[in-house]
Order: sequence, then structure tokens, then C-alpha cells
Amino acid sequence: MQQYTAIIIGSGFGGQAAAHNLRQIGIDDFLILERRPWIGGTWSQNSYPGAAVDVQSPLYSLSFEPYPWSQMFAEQHELVEYTKYCIKKHKLADKVRLNADVQQVQWDEARKLWVIDTATQGQFLAKYLINASGPLSTPVIPNFKGRDTFQGTTWHTNNWNHDYKLAGKRVAIIGSGASAAQVIPAIAPEVGHLHVFQRTPHWVLPRPDRVFKPWQRALLGNKLIYKALRTAIYWELELRMLGFKYSKLGLHLLAQRPAERHIKAQLKDPKMQAAVTPDFTIGCKRIILSSTLYPALARPNVSLHTKDDGIAEINERGILTTKGEQVDVDAIVYATGYDATDGVISYPVIGQGGTTVAQYWAEYPRAYLGTMMPGFPNLFVVTGPNTGIGHTSAIFVIEAQMEYIRRAIASTEKKGAKTIEVTTQAEADYTGMIHREMKKTVWHWGGCNSWYKSKSGHVIAMFPGFSFTFRQMCKGFKPAHHRFT
Ligand code: NAP
Repeated sequence: MQQYTAIIIGSGFGGQAAAHNLRQIGIDDFLILERRPWIGGTWSQNSYPGAAVDVQSPLYSLSFEPYPWSQMFAEQHELVEYTKYCIKKHKLADKVRLNADVQQVQWDEARKLWVIDTATQGQFLAKYLINASGPLSTPVIPNFKGRDTFQGTTWHTNNWNHDYKLAGKRVAIIGSGASAAQVIPAIAPEVGHLHVFQRTPHWVLPRPDRVFKPWQRALLGNKLIYKALRTAIYWELELRMLGFKYSKLGLHLLAQRPAERHIKAQLKDPKMQAAVTPDFTIGCKRIILSSTLYPALARPNVSLHTKDDGIAEINERGILTTKGEQVDVDAIVYATGYDATDGVISYPVIGQGGTTVAQYWAEYPRAYLGTMMPGFPNLFVVTGPNTGIGHTSAIFVIEAQMEYIRRAIASTEKKGAKTIEVTTQAEADYTGMIHREMKKTVWHWGGCNSWYKSKSGHVIAMFPGFSFTFRQMCKGFKPAHHRFT
């Protein structure tokens, strides 16, 4: 059995930021457990054609690790290169245990330690446990009638089948979220015919991408210039929150109208225009940034199936639509998203008195600053409940959480305490505030269903405010909200 001061679960940006912050407070006795055979999180896993970030890369990067990006919205391969660069520079490779698939974590009250069981790497003990396994890591394939009878090939966008040759094939893609919107234009020119099954259209805005010239990349190498660009992008994106929460008119004029114009500019057929126009307010679901999706949908070798023409069942040959049309295909790609709403942590977490996180979240997921829960001492959840952000970089929010985690651990160590735990009252007050504020946001009143909502109807993925407000709250560590033993 191996014991560490801290164990981090997940080697993506969350895990890397956690490692950096632990070292900042003098803790180098930590281990990162990674279930995959390689280091890196969502961007290493999501290798589907067209995968690219939808937040400007100078902002969608670790604040302490600038990078001379080749384009404003980096593609997946460059994000993987960036991850490798960070791992090498921060000498993290030796800190990662690969193929360590966590099965369960349990609090040992007598020893005041977390006991972490993995499938094949044995058991680990840690004083502090930082879960950075990511909210979008458990892919979902809906249980369509007859799903298993299909004789062709199927896969989820999260596990792209790179061995399958798409050229000339009849392919169906199910879903119209951010993943589908990137896959469709990337594979449409290659396949024989592409059937897109869109249950609900998403709002789409043009993607203001640009490839950086060599001299611009050289400028990005200057830390001050990088920071200035990052700051400018940050404030430009932060303004979007005004629309999401404070101004329905602003949201309509500055986002929904441009999205409507984008449809009209790119699709000439009124039937197609109607088919891709959502009936909910923009921002309620994640806004898609794409200048290539609509032209791809208009291609002669692409058929768009909408809700009226949706999936009745899957059979041996393909998909039977609700209109009774048989669509024969060679492959089905599921772009059907993730179990993100009620399953932020995919393995059992057993806290004090045998209470599990699943029990604590029976009504809906909740945590103080999206990070800590009473009854689960020394446990920190990165990208936990209500830490999602629809308008800016998720990495900014991860690093805000690190401000809290770092201060919480440092103050526990300074006191010579064995445990830190948020009080029930502090968590209840915080969660009460979150859901009062949430009522003002488009995610609550926008009239859509999305992975932002839990089965209870509460919006549990998003933080209902400016990202700088969240960061300020994380920075203002309040000892009185915690119990130390
Ligand atoms: P998603 O946004 O949850 O989309 C899932 C899609 O599958 C939706 O169109 C959904 O339709 C459809 N679907 C689910 N169950 C279905 C069923 N039973 N029948 C028919 N259709 C069904 O998932 P995602 O596209 O993978 O994106 C998830 C999140 O990942 C994004 O919101 C974003 O935060 C992140 N992401 C980011 C990027 C990027 O940065 N570039 C790229 C990909 C993903 P309904 O809408 O009708 O439910």
C-alpha cells in the first residue's frame, strides 16, 4: 500500500493545475492516477475529426504556461502537444501512474486518510484527495430500440474509430451538439452519404478563427504580450455574461439576431433555415461556434433528419425513422454527449459514516464553491457542481478552484490539522445563493433541456455569475466556513 500527502485523480488540465498548485505550497509528495494508458485528459481522448477548442487558445490555456499557438482556436492535435509540453516542462510524467482506473474511494476515519482502490494498480492512501476526473468523461449512448441489432459499425465521438475507413460509406450521426457540429463538416466531404439525426437544433455563431503568422507566434512567445492578449480576450468574453444573466434584450440583439443572420447567410433553402432554427433562447444550450456546419448540412450528400423525422428504432440495416423511412447505413456515430448532470464523479465516493457522494447528491449535485462537501473531509472536486461556464474558458474556472484548494490545504497544514471540512451551514448557504441567482440566468428560463440540468430540474453544471466573481470567492478563503481537526 502506497501513501502520499495528496492524490490527484485525472491527468488533464485539472490534474496538471492541481499538481502545480500543490508544489506552490511545498507539497511534492503527490501522485496523479490516470485511468488511460497515456497522460492527458479530454483533449487526448476526444480525437474525432474536426475536434478543436471553442474558446480562444491564449485564454484556454494554463495561466502559468503560455504557448505560441498556431491559430486562435487550437485543433485537438495542438492541444495534445501543449499538454505534452506542460507535462515535460513541469516534470510531471514521473508523478503519473497510468492505467490506474479508480474503482472506489473511501474515507478512513480512524487514520484520517482517503483509501483509493484501483482496478489493477492496487490501493493507495492519501491525506488529501483531489478529484480532477472531469465532468464530461462518461459518454452516453441512448438505449434506442433495437440498438444492438445493427450489423454495421458503431462508435461514440469520445472513442473515435480511427481504423474505420469512411471514404464512400453511408454514415449516420446522431446528435447536434458541439461534438456533432465539429464532426459533420470534417467527414461530410469524405463519406458517400451522411445522415444527420438532429433532435434539437442548437444556436450557431460564426467562428472567428485565424491562423497566426510566424511573427505573431513570435510575439505570443513574449509573456507580457501573451498576458495582454489573454486579458483582452477574457474581458471580451466576460461581457457575454451580461446577456446570459442581466439583459434579455442584449442577449437577443447581440447574440440571437447574429445567429439568425448566420443561418440566413449560409443556408438559402427556407426549409433548411427553419429546420436548424432553435425554439429556445440562445445561450440556454451551449452556443456552437462554426462557420462550416451549415454549408456541410447543405451538401448534396448530406441529409438532415429533424425531430419530425427522428429515430423510431435502430435495426440490422440502419435506422427506421418516425416517418417510416428506412435509412440504410454502414456506420452509426453517436454524438450523444455525456452523463454530466448527476454523475460528475463516476466512481463511488464513501465519506464519513459510510455516506456516499451519490447519497449526498440524491436530490441534486451540490458543493461549496463547487469543490467541497460536508462529510467528505480533505476531498476537493475540480469542475464539481455549478463550476461550468458557458461564456469563457473552463481552465480559468479550474484555476479559480485551485485558489481555494491551495489556500484550504495550506491553512490545514499551517494549523497542523489532520482534516479540513466545509461546514453544513456554509455549504447550504452557498448552494442556496447559487440557485437563487440561477433563476436569473438563461440556463434556467431559456426554455431548453441540456446537460446543464440535473434530473431534478436544477441547473447544476453552471456558475450563475461572472467568472471573476467566482475567482474572488475562491481567493477569499474563509476559515470560519470550515472545521479543522
Ligand atoms: P451534447 O451537447 O450533450 O449533445 C448531445 C446530442 O445528442 C444532442 O444533440 C442531443 O439532442 C442528442 N441526443 C442525446 N440523446 C438523444 C436521443 N435519445 N435521441 C436523439 N438525440 C439524442 O454533447 P456533445 O456534443 O458531446 O457536447 C457536450 C459538451 O462538451 C459541450 O456542451 C461542450 O461543453 C463540450 N464540448 C466542447 C467542444 C469544444 O470546445 N470544441 C467540443 C465538443 C464538446 P437534444 O439536444 O435534443 O438533447
